[in-house]
Amino acid sequence: MGYVGRFAPSPTGPLHAGSIVAALASWLDARAHGGRWLLRIDDLDAQRCDPAHTRTILAQLDALHLRPDGEVSDQQRRTAAYAAAFAQLEAAGHTFGCACSRKMLADSGARVGASGELVYPGTCRSDTGGREPRAWRARVGQAVVAFTDRAAGEQREHLAETCGDFVLKRADGPYSYHLACVVDDAAVGVTDVVRGADLLAVTPRQIWLAQQLGLPVPRYLHVPVVLAADGQKLSKQTGAAAVDTRDATAVLREATRHLALGELQGPTANELLSQAIAAWASRWP
Ligand code: GLU
Repeated sequence: MGYVGRFAPSPTGPLHAGSIVAALASWLDARAHGGRWLLRIDDLDAQRCDPAHTRTILAQLDALHLRPDGEVSDQQRRTAAYAAAFAQLEAAGHTFGCACSRKMLADSGARVGASGELVYPGTCRSDTGGREPRAWRARVGQAVVAFTDRAAGEQREHLAETCGDFVLKRADGPYSYHLACVVDDAAVGVTDVVRGADLLAVTPRQIWLAQQLGLPVPRYLHVPVVLAADGQKLSKQTGAAAVDTRDATAVLREATRHLALGELQGPTANELLSQAIAAWASRWP
């Protein structure tokens, strides 16, 4: 099967320097492999997403000449597919209802795992004690997930140690990003996920979900994230600045520098991008 890559921004704000790097990395990898590059708008969480940000993101990518192959997809209209995947997990006994609030879990003395999240202590794993579920969780048991990240190398994770039974759906909210991401990537035949290293820690649970659903597991490449001056990850939540894409070559040059592709000198965006494809192909064969 041919290479299919994708960029999947959440429209919680315009693209910042970090998301531009993720967009460019995924685009370059697709082009270097002669593959297709798809664009999906991760707008699952209607309360945090805004169509105005989607429009800005599309315009920013267009200004940088990062143009998707085919229709732009989104997640708001995909609920039936997520529900079907959830039902498949449920039928196989991989889910359970959990009545704990975030506060109850925080107060329960639950351990913080390697990815910085609370490890679910198993409170409702056998039953909720007659309480209404607030969420449905994945029953991960003693699963160990191993995979090779093209940048980070061999990874091996015991899910019970790092996150435990993670949330698949909240009673009052959408399906989780993990479930939606796995279902959507498989639906369009994504072979390669290239994204920021902040998502390396959640990759094992996405692989576990793909395995339980009988879906192919893509290859992964997690590129270094852009840090703010204070060493924190840039994020829309912490108000990272929107990138002004009017000077496309300057923006692309900065992003290629971050990706350690050397000092590219192309006078136009297109020339710069062709140099970047060649540099990428030798860095990430
Ligand atoms: N929508 C997610 C984000 O913006 C990324 C999804 C992905 O690349 O898997 O953080």
